[in-house]
Amino acid sequence: MDEQATALREIAQQVAVCPKCDLAKTRTNAVPGEGSPTADIVFIGEGPGFHEDQQARPFVGAAGKFLDELLSSIGLRRQDVYICNVLKCRPPSNRDPLPSEIAACSPWLDSQIDVIKPKLIATLGRFSMSRFFPGQSIGRIHGQPRRVDGVMVVPMYHPAAALHQASLRRVIQDDFKKLPDILEQMPDEEAKPRESEPTQIQLL
Ligand code: URA
Repeated sequence: MDEQATALREIAQQVAVCPKCDLAKTRTNAVPGEGSPTADIVFIGEGPGFHEDQQARPFVGAAGKFLDELLSSIGLRRQDVYICNVLKCRPPSNRDPLPSEIAACSPWLDSQIDVIKPKLIATLGRFSMSRFFPGQSIGRIHGQPRRVDGVMVVPMYHPAAALHQASLRRVIQDDFKKLPDILEQMPDEEAKPRESEPTQIQLL
């Protein structure tokens, strides 16, 4: 636990001063992520918005409020899970992340996942889904767990999608309610990726 906490803190310190893409020039604060260093579930969103950039914390705006509700609907608090984003810095005017930004930022997320070794990753929105399921459509695969490179990954709609499209609220709520069962059905020895497994993404 202490080692994982220290490793995550070191990553966060490096992210805070990361110069690897132009978002470094426009950010107020980098937003490395937060939560339990030993979390069973890591949630990965898209990138910080206005409030996140101001506060250096992920999901603290309107979408974050809904995420808090979703977590509480399955008996979890933010401190029980780890919450982060594909991009650690806010794109100006909340525009979509550029492929070059995602590529530059990706080693930070890789390192966080390596340290935490979650049993389950829940992707929130299409940019984080694409990292694990390139070319797939969220409408087709949301809520369906699949093992990717040794870790169970569940693609989910982004909580903000429900704020724009009311009919998605129920879909997201239902997908969230599957998470405890998915975790429960995973035998402990299969739950965590082994150190020796290849790092490239494989659909199994
Ligand atoms: N949307 C995201 O994808 N991430 C945040 O941290 C906030 C809003």
